Amino acid sequence: MRPPAPAPACDIPQDRLEPILVGEAARRGAHVRFETKFLSLTQDDEGVDVQVEDQRRSQVFTIRARYVVGADGGQSRVAEAVGLPLRGESGVGSAMNVRFTADLSPYVAHRPGSLFEVIQPEREEQLGTGCCGWCARGTTGWPASCTSASATRV
Ligand SMILES: Cc1cc2nc3c(=O)[nH]c(=O)nc-3n(C[C@H](O)[C@H](O)[C@H](O)COP(=O)(O)OP(=O)(O)OC[C@H]3O[C@@H](n4cnc5c(N)ncnc54)[C@H](O)[C@@H]3O)c2cc1C
Repeated sequence: MRPPAPAPACDIPQDRLEPILVGEAARRGAHVRFETKFLSLTQDDEGVDVQVEDQRRSQVFTIRARYVVGADGGQSRVAEAVGLPLRGESGVGSAMNVRFTADLSPYVAHRPGSLFEVIQPEREEQLGTGCCGWCARGTTGWPASCTSASATRV
């Protein structure tokens, strides 16, 4: 079967990918602020004033920007602030990721994959544990993703 893309698949977990992306962005001059929440914006002819909150210090301050890109997910406050309606139902489920260390090789070494699911038919929630970065990190570092069809129950 022909692969869908010329590049080989690469499972790389967020804790490995994010430093690469942030490092490259910083190298190109970006200022990256973690734990800083978008609150609101005000546009004028030259640009945008963006009110944000540093959540570690509980400080609200304003950033002057030429543009704002709303990449803040399906419940985007940026889209809401500029009046862009999102169609469809939201809040249809919830998920929580947990990183843990365990030697699961007896269960997975003979069947490498990107995603393993723990099926518990009696429970509504599902526990899936992704073997992300399989080749690079062996079988001991794992992200576990607990998902629920309920928006609040994970
Ligand atoms: C359990 C699960 C499994 C999935 N599996 C797959 C899969 O296998 N394949 C696939 O293609 N898709 C999958 N998806 C869907 C995929 O993760 C999403 O479609 C994708 O992450 C959306 O990307 P995004 O950048 O639009 O938003 P997000 O990834 O949600 O990123 C939004 C970011 O904005 C930040 N943010 C939100 N509000 C604010 C604010 N006010 N101020 C500052 N920052 C804010 C958030 O903290 C987050 O970092 C899965 C989703 C879930 C929940």
